[in-house]
This record gives sequence, C-alpha cells and structure tokens, in this order.
Amino acid sequence: MPTARTASPQVTTLRLGDVEITRVIEFSDISPMTTDVFFPGSTPEEWRRHAALLDPDHWDARTDLTRVATQSWVLRSEGRVVVIDTGAGNGKYRPLQPIWSYLDTGYLASLAAAGVRREDVDLVVNTHLHDDHVGWNTYLDGRDWVPTFPNATYLMPAIDVTYWHPDNLHRTQFGRGNQNVYEDSVQPVIDAGLVTTWEDSFVIDGNLRLEPAPGHTPGSAVVHLESGGERAVFAGDLLHGAIQIHEPHLNSCFEEDEEGARASRARMFAYAADHRALVFPAHLPGQGAFEIRREGSGFGLARWAPFSRT
Ligand SMILES: [Zn+2]
Repeated sequence: MPTARTASPQVTTLRLGDVEITRVIEFSDISPMTTDVFFPGSTPEEWRRHAALLDPDHWDARTDLTRVATQSWVLRSEGRVVVIDTGAGNGKYRPLQPIWSYLDTGYLASLAAAGVRREDVDLVVNTHLHDDHVGWNTYLDGRDWVPTFPNATYLMPAIDVTYWHPDNLHRTQFGRGNQNVYEDSVQPVIDAGLVTTWEDSFVIDGNLRLEPAPGHTPGSAVVHLESGGERAVFAGDLLHGAIQIHEPHLNSCFEEDEEGARASRARMFAYAADHRALVFPAHLPGQGAFEIRREGSGFGLARWAPFSRT
C-alpha cells in the first residue's frame, strides 16, 4: 500500500515502486460550469445518485457548479525529473477560455516547494496540446515567451503537433478555444530545439512509457507506470470529473471525437480495474487520483489516492 506525506499544504508525495510522485497544483476551485454544461447529457438524477462521492470536493450540490483543478504530476524516476502536463500558465490570453486567461498563480513556487527548480526538469510530457496542459511550457520573459524548463526535452504527440497548428485550427471542433496556444506555448519550445515528437508508443525509461489514447484530441496520450509490482496510469483528459468513474459514458464538453473519447476511457478503466492501477487524471480536485474496480457491468470507486484534499 503506498503511503503519502504532505510536504506543504499544496504538495503531496507518494511512492509507487521506484518512482516518487508529487502533486503540484496550479489551480483548484469552483468552475463556472454547471453540470449540464461541463458534462452534456448528464442528468440531475445521475449527480444526485453519486452525491456522497462528489459533494463537496467535485461538485457543489447547492449551486450545481462543478469543481476543477489543473495540476502537474511530477515524477522522479531513474534519477530524472519528469513533469506530466504543465497547466494553463501565467499571463496567457485565452479569449474564449476566460477561466485560463491572464492567470497569475504561484505554480513555480509550488514546484519549488516540491524541491524542483525550473532547471532541474529533465522531461516534460504534454499528454495533449490543449491550453490547460501546455501553459507552463513557457513563461513571459520581457516580450518573449521562452521555455520554462530550459534543460528539458518536451515530449509531444506528433499527431497533436500537426492537428493544433494554427493553419489547421479551422478544421477542429474546439479550435477557437485553443486560440493562441500553439503560438505562445508550443512554437517557442520547438524553436528552442527542445521538442521530441512521438507516435505509436514511446519508452521514457524502465518505469514509464507513453501510449496513445485518442479521442479527447487525436494525439491524446497516457503515461503508464510499472515499477516494483505497482502500476499507475497518468490519464490526462481521459476523464474530467469524478462522476465519470461511475458514469463513464459521460463526456466533457471538450472532446474532439465523442466516440473515441468514450472508447479510450473504457479501455483505460478496464486496464486500471484489472491491474489495480492508480489513475491520475489532470483535472480532479479532492484527492486527485483514485483506484477503480469493476461493479456489475460498469465501474466504481475502490479508493481515493492518499493525497490531502484540495
Ligand atoms: Zn484539460
């Protein structure tokens, strides 16, 4: 059984096999989205049925507003520091995503509290290239967006690098919401020579590998951890809310491919349940990660990860 220790109010760490996992929260709060907006087609009955699981960490039953976090999972594996997803970033203009626009968070201080300076990061994994997963790829230095992690290799899914290029945005479902993202958070790290793109799968080291999980975006990926008999899946945006643990047919309003998103989520849940793999999504507040089990023909929560609640 993994154990957790709290390093500061916003940083907790646990160990799985030879890998240390630290949660670094950028943002965790009530979102402006009601349940029917964030999860189209979800019913009040579904939310009420799971109220004991969801309220208050994941949903405010009085207002029907959802709660959402952005966070990085920082891994120490084989002597290297790996940052999975980089949040929304500071000072970025997102005209159609006001919740992520012109943020001014203490993300780098939280990273430092976890013992990680910008220069210490060896690998950055962007599970996909949405605004809230690549934000801290760069920061504003004077008038220029420059790489936040100057010594890192940034691993990006090749399919998403093409798909989200500004020349192609008009072909996407959610392209207008991803406005400016490539220009301020992807192109500068490409120009700095720090990006490695990958397809099919990618072995990070003896504990970690990237696998495709398309749907949310065509290049969406998950990081599999296997170490010392322990397993985990860093699931990016295969799910956005805890309600999807019990109602995995529900999609968020941000999927590029609805059926693909459901299929990748179902595949990941089946793997996690059958292998007792902890699931670490990008956006869960509360305890942030969980173990899932099969219940009848579906799934249910086995336990939350032993992180402190947000
Ligand atoms: Zn996201």
